[in-house]
Amino acid sequence: MGITLIKDENIQCVLKWEAIIGECPTWSSQEQKLYWVDISEKKVHCFNPSSGTNKTIELPEIVPCIALREKGGLVLTLKKEFAIFNPETEKLQRIKTVESDLPQNRFNDGKCDPGGRFWAGTMDSLEWKKPAGNLFCLQPDFQVRHMEKSVICSNGLGWSPDMKTMYFTESFRYSVFAYDYDLHTGAISNRRLFMEMDKSDGRFPDGLTVDAEGFVWSNIVGPGEIHRFDPKGKLERVLKFPVPRATSCTFGGPDLKTLYVTSSRETLSAPQLKEAPLSGSLFAVPTETPGLPTFLFKG
Ligand code: CA
Repeated sequence: MGITLIKDENIQCVLKWEAIIGECPTWSSQEQKLYWVDISEKKVHCFNPSSGTNKTIELPEIVPCIALREKGGLVLTLKKEFAIFNPETEKLQRIKTVESDLPQNRFNDGKCDPGGRFWAGTMDSLEWKKPAGNLFCLQPDFQVRHMEKSVICSNGLGWSPDMKTMYFTESFRYSVFAYDYDLHTGAISNRRLFMEMDKSDGRFPDGLTVDAEGFVWSNIVGPGEIHRFDPKGKLERVLKFPVPRATSCTFGGPDLKTLYVTSSRETLSAPQLKEAPLSGSLFAVPTETPGLPTFLFKG
């Protein structure tokens, strides 16, 4: 089986924006809207594909990741805290702080699992390649469990359709790892390498999502690509975006057959931005295979 290269014309810019670190696209089936964040700009965005409008709410701190709550509103992370946020009233309720002893660390990507728990990892905000990160899991009862240590820039997470495997990206191990995952307890075990990048040219894996066939879509920053892997880790498809930093992806739309993709302007030089002026925008790609529905936080 050869590798399919998806042509640029299948990729649409659906919202022209200058996000500094556009991240964590999260589809709300109930609202038919796409929530996403701009981490460093401290913003939660909500994009409505049917009207093309984008609502923005500013928070008091950086907002690295979000997930939807079953009872409405969002669960999210701030620099070092888990919090609950109501986008209607803009009420922010801080829940738990992590890593008080690691001042350089901040939260990075996060996502809800099929059991309704919210996973979020951390990274060293200055020394990205330092193994200083941890992976945490916020339970529906708001207790925090420590799930993984010595992480080098915690990033994209996902779960297989049979809910037996969890995927976890460590950007500067240039790898996505797979674990056996227990839906009922949330425990992970048997960590193994799922895919590893060539680390010679500065590219690294970022966000991640899983489709209904169990294929894994991983954002590759540098060339601005998304690589689709079969469940065994074999590369099957490459999507090439018109921006070097396509950061994260998720499936949305009424049939979950639209892949929404965020992007970023962070660390790009003026000439790079001139060459890729859509950096920071939102993109959409139609897919044949639908995604898995967004899992909701049960707390
Ligand atoms: Ca990321």
